[in-house]
Amino acid sequence: NKIVNQINLNNVFIKIIYGDITEEKVDAIVNAANSELKHGGGVAETIAKKGGPTIQEESNEYVKKHGFIKTGNVAVTGGGKLNCKYIIHAVGPIWKDGTNNEEILLYSAVYNSLTKADELGLKSIALPAISAGIFGYPIEKAVKMYFAAVYDFICHSSKSLKEIRFVVYDEKLLEYFLKEFDIQ
Ligand code: ADP
Repeated sequence: NKIVNQINLNNVFIKIIYGDITEEKVDAIVNAANSELKHGGGVAETIAKKGGPTIQEESNEYVKKHGFIKTGNVAVTGGGKLNCKYIIHAVGPIWKDGTNNEEILLYSAVYNSLTKADELGLKSIALPAISAGIFGYPIEKAVKMYFAAVYDFICHSSKSLKEIRFVVYDEKLLEYFLKEFDIQ
């Protein structure tokens, strides 16, 4: 994986990386999950396949115990065979037409992922482009919410987290990240 840009905000590094999130070595990898935690497509499928069966098994147990995850919220499992301690399963919104709280729900999915990592005392986290694949969220709008959530989190509540990585799999999405995450 290749670091394409990095910025520093209040001593937290934000890195934009081109590659596969399952290759990252971080304390937590965020999954772009659905409410049922059925990891059957997109980045979720890759995470569940490469991470081994414990990821889907722990996800099933979580849903059995707590019910489906509300959009904008997160659930945590172990990292299985991936190079991370935890997977934070974040449920982003399905894009309809922008009038169904999509913005606040995507913001929440990112903000709650970061908050959860901080609660767990983690130093580093990697996130994919939540909602921007199968869920159809337009990327130029999505990156604004990613940035807003990261910025607010770093300015208001970050304690343990020192490195936030966005791992972009699709080269076409990179330019949108580079344009939005540009504060130096
Ligand atoms: P959603 O259902 O939230 O839209 P998807 O998994 O369909 O989630 O897509 C989210 C983003 O993850 C897309 O931009 C897709 O290109 C990207 N993606 C797919 N596989 C990987 C991977 N292995 N590493 C990082 N990002 C990935």
